[in-house]
Amino acid sequence: MKNKCRVCKGETSQKGFLFKCVNKECGAVFWHRKILSENLEDDSVFKKQLSLAEIPPTKNKDHFVYVIQLSRKENEVEDSVYVGRTWRHPYERYLWHLFNKDSQGSSHVIKRGKVMIDYEGPMSKQKAIAREKSLAYALEDKYLVKGGH
Ligand SMILES: [Zn+2]
Repeated sequence: MKNKCRVCKGETSQKGFLFKCVNKECGAVFWHRKILSENLEDDSVFKKQLSLAEIPPTKNKDHFVYVIQLSRKENEVEDSVYVGRTWRHPYERYLWHLFNKDSQGSSHVIKRGKVMIDYEGPMSKQKAIAREKSLAYALEDKYLVKGGH
């Protein structure tokens, strides 16, 4: 499995199929798509992968916003990101997208989700709703932004 950081090309640490950039200033995280060859339809397999990746549990009222960078389409000259909000741990939510679990993936992320470049939280649901919008707005300077609503 290729294991260089998909943002800064630096070293990563691996847990299960989850790779984390060791450079704190980068902090990018990605699931290797090889995880999609596991039988993730089976909830016990899905949960086992989360535990192998050592994803911490979240509390009931925790909410997060997150930013996933997308692979460029042919001819694209600008990077795109998807901004979302979740009550799951953002790394887990990312996997729901990739696998399109219970049809909860965004078509952008299912096909082109490349690396989670940032997340914020935990925070209240209300804060997360507001932050999702303001974060999407702030990222428009640098990226084509999908989601964020
Ligand atoms: Zn990195």
